[in-house]
Amino acid sequence: MKLLPALLFIFVLSACQTTPKQGELTKIDASNIDNFCLLHDVTVTGEGLLLKGASSSITSQFSLRNFELTVKLKTTTGAEGILIFAATDAASTADGYEVKINNSDYRVGNLQKTGSLARIRNNFVRTATDGQWFSLKVNVDGNHIKVLVNDKTVSEYDEPGNVVRASDISGRVLTNGRIVIRRSNGNGELLLGELIIKPLKDSPMDQSCQISPDSLTKVVDQLNDQEFPLIDFHTHLKGGLTMGQAVKHAQFIGCNYGVAANCGLKFPVTNDSTLNAYYNAISKEPVFKAMQCEGREWVTLFSPKVISQFDYIFTDAMTWTDMKGRRMRLWIPEETFVDNEQHFMDMLVCRIEAILSNEPVDIHANPTFLPAKLAPDYDRLWTPERMDRVIKVLKANDVALEINARFKLPGITFIKRAKAAGVKFSFGTNNGTNTDLGRLEYCLKALKEAELTKEDMFIPRPAGEKKVIKSGLPSKITG
Ligand SMILES: [Zn+2]
Repeated sequence: MKLLPALLFIFVLSACQTTPKQGELTKIDASNIDNFCLLHDVTVTGEGLLLKGASSSITSQFSLRNFELTVKLKTTTGAEGILIFAATDAASTADGYEVKINNSDYRVGNLQKTGSLARIRNNFVRTATDGQWFSLKVNVDGNHIKVLVNDKTVSEYDEPGNVVRASDISGRVLTNGRIVIRRSNGNGELLLGELIIKPLKDSPMDQSCQISPDSLTKVVDQLNDQEFPLIDFHTHLKGGLTMGQAVKHAQFIGCNYGVAANCGLKFPVTNDSTLNAYYNAISKEPVFKAMQCEGREWVTLFSPKVISQFDYIFTDAMTWTDMKGRRMRLWIPEETFVDNEQHFMDMLVCRIEAILSNEPVDIHANPTFLPAKLAPDYDRLWTPERMDRVIKVLKANDVALEINARFKLPGITFIKRAKAAGVKFSFGTNNGTNTDLGRLEYCLKALKEAELTKEDMFIPRPAGEKKVIKSGLPSKITG
């Protein structure tokens, strides 16, 4: 007779076991979630837990400081949500870190996509697809935060000891807090399959992270806080640079990368099959996938369908053929012919106009570049009339103007003029090796001096809006 109360006691105890054990993996799904979490407007379906309404949420009843968490999620079109951790007050938006869940296309919904450590280290790259299960992983250990999507690191951040936040997110600091998954809009559906959590021992804060940020770190932190799309759209895996190193560098300096293959005549990527192979090799990486269209012959080498897999494509006006039939590459003195500087400049502007109005590119890279012989006279040769002709053709064809960190181009006067005309901008480094990635120094200088805002910045077109699909490729090369 004494057995029953004892059994009852054990049963009640196990039903109330709401904290996963330290160092062990605990799997939480529809079968046991009530033991661990409070549900609001969540229904159980054959596939998992459905967060359908705009206010649907799952909130852990336990609080953790350090942990490894993996959530299996699926979104339908338009659905957005957030995963919050270190939340001491689950109802407050000022409290805890936010990781975005958003798989919508570019220029659709929130600019930040899945894996974004919102306002701290934003991610603008699509990392998962609507309608497909994906894993979102968050690791917190000491002062180190790591966010992975489908096992690729998307955001990484060390919280400094002397952390300073904007007043509306003053509680976005690491602490013993709850984990919350909730909807942030009312579109589509968010499904949660399972949540696997492993609480970790408290490890001492890494004192080496008492960093005194330099002026550039402060600017980058501020831009992240303002949700400014800080993206370097022009990097190359050249000179020994690997994808892993590029991604790590981007996360270290606090921006996102677009990685481009150089595609054209006499380049390794020179036809549909090599272009496809390149795309497939990088398709799962957490970077924008880009094609740099080289020379003028590229329009005859690739097909629109293969090109349109890329997030965006860009070209410069550094390779063209002059009136005397000489194919020039302006960065190579032996291949550049300047018989008369004024005629050369007029020809250059004509070529830029032809390229940008005929080739269906998204960005004009290395803009206003002049051969070494003419570069010292940049300000004199780029007259207001010439600048305005280039600006006009950019605007008319909806081509973004790259602000190039390597060449420090175009000049600030040009950038201000282009902004006034409503041209969009992109930042680009155009690194040549694994040692010259830099930190977007010139782009950040231009951003400040020309007072660029996030509305001024280029974002890749969504799938249905690609220029190459809408207008096709010119039937012959442009010059
Ligand atoms: Zn390049």
